[in-house]
Amino acid sequence: MASRSDENGRERIVQANPPDDGAETGAGGRSLEDQALEIAAQNRSSVESESRMSQDLRPREFREYVGQKPVVDSISIAVMASRQRGDTLDHALFHGPPGLGKTTIAHIIARELDSQLIHTSGPALERPADVVGLLSNLKAGDVLFIDEIHRLSHAVEEYLYSAMEDFRVDFMTGSGAFAKSINLPLQPFTLIGSTTRAGMLSAPLRERFGLAYHLDFYSTEELAQVVTRSSGILKVEIDKDGALEIAKRSRGTPRISNRLLRRVRDFSEVRHDGRVNQSIASVALEIEGVDSLGLDRLDRLYLTTLSKNYNGGPAGIQALAATINEDQQTLEDVVEPFLLKIGFIVRTPQGRRTTLEGFEHLGLPPRLNGPAGQGTLL
Ligand code: ADP
Repeated sequence: MASRSDENGRERIVQANPPDDGAETGAGGRSLEDQALEIAAQNRSSVESESRMSQDLRPREFREYVGQKPVVDSISIAVMASRQRGDTLDHALFHGPPGLGKTTIAHIIARELDSQLIHTSGPALERPADVVGLLSNLKAGDVLFIDEIHRLSHAVEEYLYSAMEDFRVDFMTGSGAFAKSINLPLQPFTLIGSTTRAGMLSAPLRERFGLAYHLDFYSTEELAQVVTRSSGILKVEIDKDGALEIAKRSRGTPRISNRLLRRVRDFSEVRHDGRVNQSIASVALEIEGVDSLGLDRLDRLYLTTLSKNYNGGPAGIQALAATINEDQQTLEDVVEPFLLKIGFIVRTPQGRRTTLEGFEHLGLPPRLNGPAGQGTLL
């Protein structure tokens, strides 16, 4: 059975990986129904537990989940209410930059609902048969988690509409005179979608989520709590200032806090006695190329390119991506949200611009040709 129980027998996680054989829908004479059944069977037998490391540090209950209080308050009430009524939870959408805890919260929800979580992603559901197979295999109360839901193809997305709204899928099998429409009833389930780009979701899909939440960057104090909690699990001896130093350099993101903590631990074990304080953390992170505000090499390359090559902008994202030879989506999803958040860049209709603070951080004289959201300096 494609499920895995944890030590309490709760929250079974199933990794749904449709096969990537490149077949077109309905190709090779196989009907969508056949393909769906095959995929359902493969999903049942493809058990993959999550990477042990991230499982270890991932909070398992709402009370362990640091920060995002308004989100946690609201979703935990919705979960409790649906449990009390014995109902399925409304479909929920989480959006925000990567590493802020969207997947983690989906796992917590499944645990609290005592449900199985089936984990898949938008790009993995390439063909309608992938999604029909997955949906027909769901049991009552299952939580279907679709990461990067904005990357679902339009054809696949359309199958989700009736699945989400009426718990059924309609599809055609056969062709020509033998074409038949099949209406497949589904078990009631909860879809949890996660996206870094809520704006890219089509309106019909977005409207089918009864619950929608935005996760924001974490404060330094919250990230220090994440570091302290993770240090306890990893058995790293760290003092308060050491935790704060890592937190300050984590770009508001718990995933980065955990990664930096591991790097600092390595450094301390090799160069010191394994314990971590503020100065050890700061030296270790300088070596990692993480500056005092948490900007890494890519952040600085982006900011320097915009500020020097483009004189502070305005510059289009495509031009910037081509100049630094980096994927545009990475820049938009990973680099820009934090630079916008700390006010080092602004987005204008003409393109991206470096702000006064951005120039100052790089130690460059400001070159703000025109309105950049904070007046004009020439
Ligand atoms: P996302 O799905 O938004 O990309 P994840 O849920 O995978 O992010 O979170 C990345 C890691 O950060 C998790 O493995 C977890 O250890 C940690 N993390 C995320 N959010 C929190 C939180 N609120 N409290 C503590 N740790 C967190």
